[in-house]
Amino acid sequence: MIITNELSKSFHNLEVLKKIDLQVNAGEVVAVLGPSGSGKSTFLRCLNGLEELTGGRMTVSGIVVDTKQSKKERAKQIQKIRLHTGMVFQQFNLYPHKTVLQNVIEALLVVKKWNKEKAIEKGENLLARVGMIEKRDEYPSRLSGGQQQRVAIARALAMEPDIMLFDEPTSALDPELVDEVLNVMKQLAKDGMTMVIVTHEMQFAREVADRIVFMADGIIYEQADPEKFFTNPDTERAKKFLKMI
Ligand code: ADP
Ligand code: MG
Repeated sequence: MIITNELSKSFHNLEVLKKIDLQVNAGEVVAVLGPSGSGKSTFLRCLNGLEELTGGRMTVSGIVVDTKQSKKERAKQIQKIRLHTGMVFQQFNLYPHKTVLQNVIEALLVVKKWNKEKAIEKGENLLARVGMIEKRDEYPSRLSGGQQQRVAIARALAMEPDIMLFDEPTSALDPELVDEVLNVMKQLAKDGMTMVIVTHEMQFAREVADRIVFMADGIIYEQADPEKFFTNPDTERAKKFLKMI
């Protein structure tokens, strides 16, 4: 579902991602862990085209983006990738002037040009899936952070992405609201969604991820199954990280 080959990203002379090689298979749940500033968000943003690669290539949902392609070709590929990936951010970014349901169906109406009835039916199904159907006509400001984040997940799912990317989806939440969001993600994982999750929720990563990717200083230091990573990591860098959390 995802293959990156020497994927690199610099901002001017700051090298943030250094030749990242990663493969994620269909239905796999990968948790990306690592200290702050190590390039985790930048990596996710590259995967769905919010940032341009400055070196290497990637294939996302079968669509190739290569720094050797012309700018025009690359832009076309990134457009396609956007339609196949859903992203959920730390800040929920819901449209404040739209209701919960309107937020969820917006892309179906505007991008997919569905008629309203069909979009509403789909939207209601998605809201039921994340436990938010009772709030369909509420505005985001009237919801808790956990509720807003569940709506954001439903909104991302509306486009039927092949891959869901999560960037610290629970970091902005009060502790008592974290579980309701993690539970929705757990269900999504059970349903077979391919997921890449940047998170500081170690217990969740251990329980739900098929694989841990440990990133620091723009490099993947190690990849391992969760039990191995949390009990006996290979690298000193990972040992140091685990001691600090
Ligand atoms: P993480 O998500 O692991 O905390 P980030 O990917 O957000 O790390 O950031 C990695 C590095 O890239 C940091 O040094 C950050 O300051 C830098 N960075 C991120 N985005 C930009 C940007 N748009 N312009 C310049 N530097 C950036
Ligand atoms: Mg980040």
